[in-house]
Amino acid sequence: MGKGAKGINLTFIFILVLVLVLVWASTNSGSSGSYTKGQFIADMEAGLVVDVEIHPNVQVPTGMLRITLRDGDQRNLYVSDVVEMQEVVTSYRIDPIVKDVPQENWFITELLPLLMLLVVVVFMFSMMNAQNAGNSGGGKMMNFGKSRARLTTGGEVTLKDVAGLCEEKEDLEEIIDFLKDPAKYTKVGARIPKGVLLEGAPGTGKTLLAKAIAGEANVPFFSISGSDFVEMFVGVGASRVRDLFAEAKKNAPCIIFIDEIDAVARRRGTGMGGGHDEREQTLNQMLVEMDGFGTNEGIIVMAATNRVDILDPAILRPGRFDRKISVSPPDVKGREEILNVHAKNKPLAEDVDLKQVAQTTAGFTGADLENLLNESAIQAAKENRAYIRQEDIKKSFIKVGIGAEKKSRIISEKEKRITAYHEAGHAILFHILPEVGPIYTVSIIPTGLGAAGYTMPLPEKDEMFNTKGRMLQDIMVSLGGRIAEEIIFDDVTTGASSDIKKATKVARAMVTRYGFSENIGVINYDEEDNEVFIGRDLAHTRSHSEAVASEIDMEIKTIVDDCYKKAKKIILDHEKVLHACAELLLEKEKIGREEFEALFE
Ligand code: ADP
Ligand code: MG
Ligand code: ZN
Repeated sequence: MGKGAKGINLTFIFILVLVLVLVWASTNSGSSGSYTKGQFIADMEAGLVVDVEIHPNVQVPTGMLRITLRDGDQRNLYVSDVVEMQEVVTSYRIDPIVKDVPQENWFITELLPLLMLLVVVVFMFSMMNAQNAGNSGGGKMMNFGKSRARLTTGGEVTLKDVAGLCEEKEDLEEIIDFLKDPAKYTKVGARIPKGVLLEGAPGTGKTLLAKAIAGEANVPFFSISGSDFVEMFVGVGASRVRDLFAEAKKNAPCIIFIDEIDAVARRRGTGMGGGHDEREQTLNQMLVEMDGFGTNEGIIVMAATNRVDILDPAILRPGRFDRKISVSPPDVKGREEILNVHAKNKPLAEDVDLKQVAQTTAGFTGADLENLLNESAIQAAKENRAYIRQEDIKKSFIKVGIGAEKKSRIISEKEKRITAYHEAGHAILFHILPEVGPIYTVSIIPTGLGAAGYTMPLPEKDEMFNTKGRMLQDIMVSLGGRIAEEIIFDDVTTGASSDIKKATKVARAMVTRYGFSENIGVINYDEEDNEVFIGRDLAHTRSHSEAVASEIDMEIKTIVDDCYKKAKKIILDHEKVLHACAELLLEKEKIGREEFEALFE
């Protein structure tokens, strides 16, 4: 925020305080302390009241009684009906002095509304200014349409800071080369893409990659987030786009980076509130600008999104974002490289094995890994160590992955027993079933996210595809906790609800999305993908009939029931291990892979 905005905010706060003080002073002049009607009557009963003055308000019948007590104290009593109070007072043989109705309070009636208006106006100006202060220094107040893009010259982040993502970097090589020397390309008449769309899950390094391109080519980097465009006043977004592109042209060669482009570039005509909304205008302006500048003007527009599927197809047409680069979550090797990048400025103890950390963090994105190391550093600092140990990383892993363990929560013995058997049930299935597991940790320490315990597998390999067999085993593992409860306690708890939800979700995906069910066939009945288009979904009905819907439900039930039976048999076959594991858990609360696997011998 610029200086100007801050100054105005201070003025605003000052005026607000002043008004509050004046209001307070004008309504509350007199002695303080709460004196109730009950006390007053009791005092009159006791003969303590010497004198009563009645001060009616402007708005009768309300008013105030000023009461003088025998010891000289004065009390104020605010009453809702002075006439009634006068009668009460007289009935105690006290003759009250009734004052005139005062002149209207000029402050409240005249000055206050004016002051209020002033406050509102000042507030609005300071808001506008704060919004626009980002790049204009805050001097001007009404520069609504100015783009809020942040300009950074490249050089801070380079490709060295981006670990992994080899193919992605390779794809961007020529863009960097072009930005470094546009003339080289123009001479041979080569056409360089105008727009590059980076697509990938949150935290995979899209923003980082875009910055690194600018840094590598050493060109200015204008970055703006799609959500910045979405303003309450129609036309502001469009004028911001115009401004942004004009600014970029002056600074070519350069990169314009539009983060979270899905906020503006959603498929048009799907909004709830009818056609031409603000977002649409902004998007149109963006398309116009992109069409408007020549191919080799030296501006590359990059954009990032995690929802390509909801983007308006118009932005993907040739001459716009015609280069699409998928940024995928890192594999084992990538994870190790990312860990190495972020461990650079963190002292590690000898026992830290980043390779092993990489192996146990399947599914983590770059952002998760960065977070993991940061948490580990915090852990080390908490214990006044100047270096990170493997133990710190292990602890943070659980915190980042599952939510911190909460040892402080008190749980009853019975709850603990149930949890121990529940987790043992999951663990046995993880161990026995070939496509899932092995076990990394089993714990009955409640987690920060509200689970009573957890069983964490150690995925040994990253796989691109899930198989039918593996999904069935996933369902079985999910049901394992519930089954163990049923076998041991002959009763079940509500604790398995999220397991059940997970099992159902996997089974539903098998039937409606992957065509794994013979009765339903290889047809996609999945509708979840479209949930963003509320407007469209309201208008359209389901793509299939009630009959198919009920058949799908039947099929899901068959899959889950079948898994339940098979899983129950496995657990019953290993009932001894179930008891042993639960006992061990009750004793130690948390067991690792070796301890668990020893139970099977
Ligand atoms: P996205 O824009 O895809 O959501 P970001 O680029 O904002 O993700 O990444 C967030 C953070 O995660 C980065 O600032 C960086 O610290 C870390 N990160 C993500 N991917 C990588 C990577 N490939 N190499 C190094 N750090 C990464
Ligand atoms: Mg980002
Ligand atoms: Zn469970």
